[in-house]
Amino acid sequence: MNFVSHLECANCGVRYEAGKIHNLCAACNRPLWVKYDLAALKKNFKKKDLMGRPPTIWRYLEMLPISNPEKIVSLTETITPILDCKRLASHFGMESLLVKDESRLPTGSFKSRGMAMALSMANEFGIKKVACPTAGNAGGAMAAYAARAGMEAYVFMPEDTPMINKKECYLAGAKTFAVNGLINDCGRIVGEGKKIKGWFDVSTLKEPYRIEGKKTMGLELAEQFDWELPDVILYPTGGGTGLIGMWKAFAELEAMGWLKSPKKPKMISCQSEGCAPISTAFDKGERFAKLFEGASTVASGIRVPVAVGDFMILDAVRESGGVAIATPEKDIPKFMRMASSSEGIALCPETAVCLGALDVLLQRGTIKKTDRVLIFNTGAAQKYPEAVQEKLQRIDITKPIDWDKI
Ligand SMILES: *Cc1c(COP(=O)(O)O)cnc(C)c1O
Ligand SMILES: [Zn+2]
Repeated sequence: MNFVSHLECANCGVRYEAGKIHNLCAACNRPLWVKYDLAALKKNFKKKDLMGRPPTIWRYLEMLPISNPEKIVSLTETITPILDCKRLASHFGMESLLVKDESRLPTGSFKSRGMAMALSMANEFGIKKVACPTAGNAGGAMAAYAARAGMEAYVFMPEDTPMINKKECYLAGAKTFAVNGLINDCGRIVGEGKKIKGWFDVSTLKEPYRIEGKKTMGLELAEQFDWELPDVILYPTGGGTGLIGMWKAFAELEAMGWLKSPKKPKMISCQSEGCAPISTAFDKGERFAKLFEGASTVASGIRVPVAVGDFMILDAVRESGGVAIATPEKDIPKFMRMASSSEGIALCPETAVCLGALDVLLQRGTIKKTDRVLIFNTGAAQKYPEAVQEKLQRIDITKPIDWDKI
């Protein structure tokens, strides 16, 4: 039993039946929304029902597409903490800067939210074989959840994907392939192999449930803020599921009457200038983004030159009064180190672009120094050895130590 009423194409509005396996809209090849009977939810699901439930994403079960909780595939997706980073804030002339630290989730990134949901649904449908293209962390997460569920996993990644992502997929027993192209090239392989190999395509937004998993970021955040949302959310954007999912969460909570105020956060979609299709489309006032040529960034999770849900990201950003903006690629290591050295948080290169965006948007006045600003740290810095050029002094133990140099 769940509260899903149907699925609906985000582009052309065609409806699809719930409880069936779906990928993209058959009519227009765009993503599907999972729609809920919000009136029934409002009547049957109350804030007080959350009391005493474990602090995991599954506490919001009624707002999720799961119909058989016994089929849930989980590694315990904990509610992630929100850290007030005053020392980091002071670099931007702010008193407070909130970081929701997703690096603590299974496999070290927030991809586990989406994959836990997608593979739980796949498990309900009896699917045994899953495949995805990945810029890095999605593959690692899918491989881990497939192992947990006893499913066969196929991961296709650009050959220059960070080393850790390759190793984690291999360790988790996924058939892992290094492709001499980008994530969209990998996506084409997964699509072509569907008929030949019989796997289910778990690509970002090409199945409807990863958004529902990422939606829990918005639900969780709202609960942590006692149902009053922050003024601004900065989110590093690749395929955009997280931003789209949060915006959906806020709309559903509002329809259920759970939010204390109708005021919603400005959603800031952050990218690197090395791969900025969404911010480019935003600047041009377009709803659909063009393929970003020559995409290159150490923030591998947002190296997505073309996103099938581009219009959903841009719609959410515009509706919220936010912007999409790109940070110079060369600033990424600087912001990673600024965050880690001033707060001890393991800020990933993707989230480093959010700090660049914050800097510029404060100067422009889009964000005020007194705004309640929240940044998503979507993954752990430890997964990106390639993004850090550390300078270490060497000590030769066969010689006397030169204490003046220490
Ligand atoms: C995938 C990823 C992103 C981008 O997430 P989307 O929801 O696809 O936009 C950001 N940060 C990290 C660490 C990621 O792995
Ligand atoms: Zn459609």
